[in-house]
Amino acid sequence: MKVDFYCHSLDDNDRQAALEVMRSVFLSAGPVSAAFEEKFAQYTGAPYVVALNSGTAALHLALMALDIKPGDEVITTPMTFIASVNAILYVGATPVLADVEPDTGLIDINKAAAQITPRTKAILPVHMYGAMADMRALRQLADAHNLYLVEDCAHCIEGIRDGVRPGQLGDIACYSFYATKNLTCGEGGAVSVHQEHLAARLRGLRQHGMSRNAGNRFASFSHWDMVELGYKYNPNDIMCALMLHQMDRLDSLHRKRRETAARYDELLKDIAGIDKPVIKGTSALHLYTIWTPDGLREQVLDGLGQAGIGVTVNYRAVHTLTYYKERFGFKPEDFPIANRIGSRTISLPFYPGLATQKQEYVAESLKRIMGDLA
Ligand SMILES: *Cc1c(COP(=O)(O)O)cnc(C)c1O
Repeated sequence: MKVDFYCHSLDDNDRQAALEVMRSVFLSAGPVSAAFEEKFAQYTGAPYVVALNSGTAALHLALMALDIKPGDEVITTPMTFIASVNAILYVGATPVLADVEPDTGLIDINKAAAQITPRTKAILPVHMYGAMADMRALRQLADAHNLYLVEDCAHCIEGIRDGVRPGQLGDIACYSFYATKNLTCGEGGAVSVHQEHLAARLRGLRQHGMSRNAGNRFASFSHWDMVELGYKYNPNDIMCALMLHQMDRLDSLHRKRRETAARYDELLKDIAGIDKPVIKGTSALHLYTIWTPDGLREQVLDGLGQAGIGVTVNYRAVHTLTYYKERFGFKPEDFPIANRIGSRTISLPFYPGLATQKQEYVAESLKRIMGDLA
């Protein structure tokens, strides 16, 4: 048997919508991108959404729009995808890492608080695996020190914790529509914000800092200006078309992922040595994560791979990667909890509609591999 790690949930409606854009004249950001932004804003509850061409661009522009610059510090977690930390470097600021909670793998608020200095400008929590960080506590901490809160929501559109949704308490929330994400068009991203002036600035920054967007530029010619140095981060209508109808299925797909996760919970509960992160609130369930015993992760990865099961590692801790070690002199033990999680974590095949039979095969294989290693 072969079990794919991931399978998207695009249907014929989504493909048809993209085809219609391809039959139209203007393929870049136009009416479909605008319609997507409106729909996404409705779903998230944020008043303004600016669509972009990646989640990384969202993180980069979020920090730029908040005027975070060289000399500033941004506190984030080492247990994340590198994009969260790289974006801090893109604006010339200094990433300051705060270790994670051992049970959830999410940023530890007390450790984040301990890292605040007069140079701190923002905290950047990540809703890892789909589980939300403690946004109420983070908002309180940020307000007490006059800091911005930038949420990395790449794993979490559908989650809720303590009555708080992603993007609700953050100054800016950053989303990714990369190939494996819960809502996807292959590559894409967005930010949601509560303030109109930030939305306007972000719209400029995604298009070189130009004063008018491309759609308007061609409709009837008038000169545009460039008012600040931006980037080329706009989306296009083909990708946004793939997500317009897909958005209507977000909640039903989430329900299916919850069923799939519950089945794994049941199938894996008796396998000795396999731990899982604790989930507080309702997770968006982007990934299904297991934590192996110390020192056995590589063998378990190999075993699953040999059984034809697609697996990934989300993630080894950022501070253990060569660039970060060399540039900042980090040692693995500087953030011991993230380091330990990063050396034990495996993401199992997980997507809506993953067949029960395949989940059983994953569980049986894992049980056999763990038995052989005992
Ligand atoms: C996917 C991801 C990103 C980056 O998104 P891209 O769209 O791939 O640029 C950022 N943060 C996290 C946690 C992610 O998983």
